[in-house]
Amino acid sequence: MKKFIEHLVCCFLTWSGLPWLIREVYARRKVTIINYHNPEPDVFEEHVRFYDKNYNFVSIDQVVKSIEKGIFSHLPNKSLLITIDDGYSGNAQLFSTLRKYRIPAVIYAVAGVVGTRRHFWFDQLPHRGQSMRVLKRIPDSDRRMRIRIDYDHWDEKEYDNPVALSNEEICAFADSGGSVGSHTLFHPLLDRCDEEVVLNECIMSRERLEKIIGKPVVHFALPNGNMNQSVLNWVQRTGYRSCRTTFPGWVNCKTSPFLLPNFGIADNANIHKAALQVCGLWSILKRLIDSD
Ligand SMILES: [Zn+2]
Repeated sequence: MKKFIEHLVCCFLTWSGLPWLIREVYARRKVTIINYHNPEPDVFEEHVRFYDKNYNFVSIDQVVKSIEKGIFSHLPNKSLLITIDDGYSGNAQLFSTLRKYRIPAVIYAVAGVVGTRRHFWFDQLPHRGQSMRVLKRIPDSDRRMRIRIDYDHWDEKEYDNPVALSNEEICAFADSGGSVGSHTLFHPLLDRCDEEVVLNECIMSRERLEKIIGKPVVHFALPNGNMNQSVLNWVQRTGYRSCRTTFPGWVNCKTSPFLLPNFGIADNANIHKAALQVCGLWSILKRLIDSD
């Protein structure tokens, strides 16, 4: 029933013209960054067909360069940057769509998991929402210990099957116009880590990814969006040129490259929901409902 009501609301809002107004007027000269994790290829292609008609795809390098110069005039109207987090093996099935529509997407890869048979720690949790909320509040060393005790999982543990992209797949992505960014080594919640761990996650992840793709890795995305000023300082000091957060919002030439906002797109969103999420309306409504 909840899904049905959500669907009706999405259809109504899509047809209301509000998404058009936001996209064509308010956000016309801004950059929209969106974020996926592990969408099915047919769902992703349906979304991309919509984006292709209504936006202009740009790369993370174009966006960051424009911010650094403070000039947005050479970016197209309604610029859209597609980012994909974690580096799930299923992302390889999106490559043909990315190539077909010439999309310079960025994959923020968890460097210690891609190219291995290791698994993501957050996928071990049976009731992800509730367990995640508890684990988000405790120090990182306690989180690691609890996951080892409760779920028999540790960062370097190898399983029978890989869940992340192989080295060859990441190279193929990077060689066909995609950007590879770092999403740390093992996806800890950085604001819960000691400084030494933060430093290690920033440096080692970049070194490992650079070794895999043979190109500089200068863009970073915060796991789960968790951060504080000290984390941002370390991302900057360890040589990255940008940092993508999970704050909703658009990018303009005054945006800090180390606080890039984005709109999350649900991996299984139907086209109406995706249309609301990409224009920012979904986040605006969510904030209004949550503030009640
Ligand atoms: Zn992530």
